Formats: sequence, C-alpha cells, structure tokens
Amino acid sequence: MTVSILLPKILLIENDPAASNAIHTALAGTVSGSFDVEWVRQLSEALVRLSKKGIAAVLLNLSLSDSHGIETFDKLFAAAPDVPILVFGNGNEALAKEAVGRGAQDYLLAGHLDSYSLPRALRNAIERKAVDDALYLERERAVVTLNSIGDAVLCTDISGNITYLNLVAEAMTGWPREEAIGKPLAEVFRIVDGATRKTARDPMEMAVEQNRTVGLTVNCVLIRRDGFESAIEDSAAPIHDRTRRVIGAVIVFHDVSAARAMSVQMTHSAQHDVVTNLPNRLLLNDRIAQSIAAGRRWNRPLAVIFLDLDRFKYINDSLGHAVGDELLQCVSKRLLAGVRASDTVSRQGGDEFVILLSEITYPEDAATSARKILLSLSAPCSVGGRSLRISGSIGISVYPEDGEDAETLIKNADLAMYHAKENGRNNFQFFTAEMNLKAVERQSLEGSLRCALEQEEFLLHYQPKVNLDTGEITGVEALIRWQQPGRGLVPPSQFVPIAEDCGLIVEIGRWALREACRQAREWQDAGLPFKRVSINVSAVEFRNKGFVESVRTILSEAGLEARYLDLELTEGVLMEDAESTAAVLQELKTMGVQLAVDDFGTGYSSLSYLQQFPIDVLKIDQSFVHRITADPDGSSIVSAIIDMGKNLKQRVIAEGIETPEQLAFLRAHHCAEGQGYLFSHPLAAPQFAHLLQMALTETIVH
Ligand code: C2E
Ligand code: MG
Ligand code: MG
Repeated sequence: MTVSILLPKILLIENDPAASNAIHTALAGTVSGSFDVEWVRQLSEALVRLSKKGIAAVLLNLSLSDSHGIETFDKLFAAAPDVPILVFGNGNEALAKEAVGRGAQDYLLAGHLDSYSLPRALRNAIERKAVDDALYLERERAVVTLNSIGDAVLCTDISGNITYLNLVAEAMTGWPREEAIGKPLAEVFRIVDGATRKTARDPMEMAVEQNRTVGLTVNCVLIRRDGFESAIEDSAAPIHDRTRRVIGAVIVFHDVSAARAMSVQMTHSAQHDVVTNLPNRLLLNDRIAQSIAAGRRWNRPLAVIFLDLDRFKYINDSLGHAVGDELLQCVSKRLLAGVRASDTVSRQGGDEFVILLSEITYPEDAATSARKILLSLSAPCSVGGRSLRISGSIGISVYPEDGEDAETLIKNADLAMYHAKENGRNNFQFFTAEMNLKAVERQSLEGSLRCALEQEEFLLHYQPKVNLDTGEITGVEALIRWQQPGRGLVPPSQFVPIAEDCGLIVEIGRWALREACRQAREWQDAGLPFKRVSINVSAVEFRNKGFVESVRTILSEAGLEARYLDLELTEGVLMEDAESTAAVLQELKTMGVQLAVDDFGTGYSSLSYLQQFPIDVLKIDQSFVHRITADPDGSSIVSAIIDMGKNLKQRVIAEGIETPEQLAFLRAHHCAEGQGYLFSHPLAAPQFAHLLQMALTETIVH
C-alpha cells in the first residue's frame, strides 16, 4: 500500500485486529480513491493522535477496551469537534443513532463495511464537513461584516416576521435578537413620520410589493422599545431565493438625528439673529407675507411696527459691545413679553426691531401696542451691573393702506420711525402718504446737493459777534447758505441734516472752512478790523479721519493763522466718544485753533468731561436767551451758564439776542459777548465788509 500525504487520513479506532484488517482492505484502493488509514485500538491512543491534527475523518467502534457506549463518542467528539466521526458497532443500531444525534456524521451497520459502502460513506462525510466549514465561514464573515458596519440591518421573511437583526439594529430598536426573531416587523421596527406622528409606511411591504429597493419615508423617526426616538434614514430591499422568488426583505437604516439636528440648527441660524435669537429679516418677511395672504382672505388689517432705540450707538460705543448686546437682549425680552403669541418680534440688525402684529382689528390697536412697547422700555435695564435707561422711536404702517407687500410695509414703517425721531424721540408715528412725499423730496435734494458743490451754489453769510459792553465786533460766525437755482436761498436746517446722512457734509464743510478762511485773510489784507472767524463743524465732519489735517492744510493754503479761527461744535459731538474726542480737540488746540461749544445747554453734557476738554467758548443756546424775559427758568439757566463759564475761564457768548430787554439782562449778568438779530442778521460778505468798515469809525452798539 503506497502512502501519500495527499490521501485523506482516516483514524480507525477498533479494538479487534481482524475487524481492523477488514476495514484496511475495504479502504485500500477503491473506485472512490484510497485512504491512508491509521489504526489505534484504544480511545486513549485515539485522543493522543487526534490532538496532533491531520485527521480527515474518524471511524469509531463504540465499544473499545478502555471505553464503552456513547461515552466513547462524547469524549472523542469533545476532543475533536471539527473532525467528522463515523461510528459503527456490533449491530447496536440504537446506540449508533444516538451518536448521530450528538454530532456524529453517520453510522455504518456492520454489514456495510465493504469496499463499496465504506469509502463512499467516508468521502461523503469529509465533503459534507468541508461544505459545512465553508458555509460556516461564509456565515461568520457575513455576521462579522453586519456587526462591524455602522448601519443597522434587519431581515424579515415573506410574512414580515423578523429573521435577523445585527448589533446596531438591536441597539437602535431596543430588541435583542433572540426576542425579536419571529416577531412581526411593525412590533420591533416602530416608525412614525416625524412631522405628522402618523405610522410611517411599512418599508418591507413596499420593497416586497414593488420588488425593488425603496427608500424610507422622509423625516422618518424610529421609536425604540423604551420610547426613545431617533431620526433615521434608509432603505429596504427584497431578498430572493434561487428562483428569484421574493422570500423576505432586508432593511438597512442609520441614525441621522445629529445630521437632522444640525440641519434644523442651520435653518434656525439662517432665520434668526445671533444676539437675541429673534427671527431675522428673512423670517420676518416670510411671516409678513403669510399674514398678508391671510389678511387678504379674511379682509383683516395687520400692522408693522418699526422700533429704533434712541442713542443706542452712544451706549454701544462708550460701554462696549458686550454691554450693547446685553441691552439688546433685555429689550428683546421686553418686546416678547408685550406681544401676543401670534405676533412676530424680529431684529433687523443694529438697534432696529420690527414687530408684526398679525391680529389687529383696527389700526388704532397698533397704537396701543406702540404705547405699551414704549412704556415697557421706560423701566431701566440692568446690564453688566449697571442700570441703563433706553427709549425708542416707533413708526407704524398698516396693511393694506400703507403697503401690500412686506418690503413696502417695512420701508414705510421705517420712514414713520424717522419722523418719530425728528419729533423728539420716545414717541410713535403712523405712516402718512405725506412722509413718502418728503422722502422722495429728500432723495431728489440729495441728488441736487451733489451737483451744488460742482456748480458752486454754496455761499457763506456772516453774523457778527459783539462785545456787549462796548458794541465792538469781536468776531464773526460764518453760516452756510445754498443758492439753489429756482428755490432761492436755502437755509442750512433744510440741507445740512441730509448732507450729514449721506456723508456729503464732509466735502461741503471743507468748502465752507476754505471759503471762510480765504475771506478772513482777504479782510485782514484789506486792513479791516477783523478779529476772528468761527465755523460750524458737524459730528460727521469731526469724526472723519482726515479732519485735523484738512483744517491744517486749509489754514496754510489760505495763509490764515490758526489763532484767528474758532471751531463750533455741539455738545452731542463732544460727548459721543469722549476719549477720541479729547484727542482730536487736543490736536486742534495745539495747532492754535479755538474751540467753542455751540447750542450749549440743549445737549447732555457731562460737566466733568467739559472740564477736561480744552474748551475756550460756551455759546448759550438761543432758546434760553429767548426765554430770559418770558420765564424765570430761562433766565436762571442763562445766569448759571454765565457763572460756569467764568469759573472755567471760558468766554461766554449769548446767541439769538433779539430784544433790548434780553441785552439788558445779559449785560446785568456780565455776559461778555453776544450775537443776534438785535445787532445784525447774517450778511453776505460785501455787506459784512461794509459793517467792518463802519466799525473802523464807530461801534454798532452804544
Ligand atoms: P448755529 O451755529 O447755532 O447758528 C445760529 C443760527 O441762529 C443761525 O441760523 C443764525 O442765522 C440764527 N440766528 C442768529 N441770530 C438770531 C436771532 O437773533 N434770532 C433767531 N431766531 N435766529 C438767529 P442758520 O444760519 O440758519 O444756521 C442754522 C444752523 O445750521 C447753525 O446753527 C449751524 O448749526 C448750522 N450751520 C450753519 N452753517 C453751517 C456750516 O457751514 N457747516 C455746518 N456743519 N453747519 C452749519
Ligand atoms: Mg454756530
Ligand atoms: Mg447755536
């Protein structure tokens, strides 16, 4: 007998040498091929041999000298569970069957150990084992794969009962596989539509019905066994047998809660303001559009309230953005508390809020809301350890009268808000058609203003400042006029605010300064008793970066010494940003220019700042001067300012002196200088030159 390593090795466990011989013979060179037979007589020997591997199959006689009955098999099987064992015995068929029940591959009756049956039985056993192994491997690979992927996988049979769940599916459904298997899909895989909360369509049913892979319902939510919900996404596919018959389905799904939460968050961010978390312009427009659609259907009005906080910029600049943000949050809370759930409070940006009142019966209801808002703002806000007071100006537009779309309604409410601001802030105004007209006029004015500079339509008038004791002209204030073709002389009140809004004031102001300096130098050169010229500077000019440099350049170009120039600034300009103001004032002061506070008493000067600033002149606002003789308050304010000026060693000039009584009062209180129609209206340059000429010979007040 040739032994080849390629021949399958059979371990024969047989006590009886004669039987062993017979088997050797039966296995030696048959049609089914040969086997390499290794013979042992005892179980103990067999166990030793098996531990060395390399055995393709075992032929076992259940009754051995060292072991009997089923125990023999059990021991052997325990030692080598992966080797197929064929048992044979001495006609004890029941015992052999029992062995098969416990894992033996086959049993052979004593009469079938011939050279035909035995090799066949062995071959079959070895092959079956190989197929089993391959199948096991494949299944194992599938299980490992299914448990390693992040997706949940769940299989059903054709009647919709669960046949398989991977680990992720177990975790997500909350069902262990052993419990889930055999249960109807709907019990284990509970899914609802996230929006409607209705049971979502059974994906397996669809896949089986349509015999193709189908996606799950959009916005699908899986309810775990304990009630926990997760957003899921995915698909179901039919499973086919060899004949392409559908025999079940596989559902693959994964948790998209994080992705969905992110997308919800992103939608929220796109529609809300970061600081206050209120709806932004985008969402507001949408809500107004919806409200308009409903208003049209039910023939109902709605109102848009535009709120702008007064002097917010000042708080933001002086106390910092963090405080500003907190204040905005405080305001937003007050607004939310004061409106109905159906209304929308939105932030447009900056210090602007727009409130949509979608359920009003009469336009007057909007006025009630506006009053409520102003009242709610009047209580101080506690911000960063400070108690801050804020007020607001409100404009209201009403659908359908003031606009039939969101854009127009907001624009008109905004316009009305401007009017509220002009009206002295902390009040509300309904939009009127007239406002629109004004706005249009304003726009055309802006266009004409741009041309006015090129066309040289501006000119300066000059009003003398007078020594109240001697009547001597102590200086002159240059006041701008616009000679607009077809409109005559336009006073500064009608165009300076517009020029400030659109930034043109910077160029216009430079022109005025240049012209005043040039004129002053001309009068000096003409030998007239000219003392000094003052020019008004608005906040926008003063805050412009190149301001100090442009003053320096203009003076040097005009050939006028800085000490002949006064700059008039209002209190608002000085207080807006005290720190940078002080720096600019100091630069101007160093240059030699004198500084005056114009319209003094009307603003909100902090006296401590005023003391720190290098101010030379206080100009008492004309409203106080006019009240000197009318009411005691007016006169006491005037005398207080005069005293203050003396204490701070500042020149005090009373503006707008119109009557001898006013003059008498000011003289009595030792106000040094004054200005007003009583002495002279502002005059064109030649007339003013004439006045100076006269002054050479006499003073104008005796
Ligand atoms: P302001 O600097 O306070 O100028 C005084 C205003 O009072 C002038 O008005 C003057 O004509 C007027 N006035 C003078 N005396 C009397 C009087 O006895 N009674 C009354 N009722 N009014 C009197 P005006 O020229 O219309 O200027 C108004 C404001 O326009 C100025 O107030 C100033 O703030 C601004 N302004 C004028 N010129 C310029 C300029 O060149 N640049 C800038 N930025 N603002 C200017
Ligand atoms: Mg002035
Ligand atoms: Mg003034």
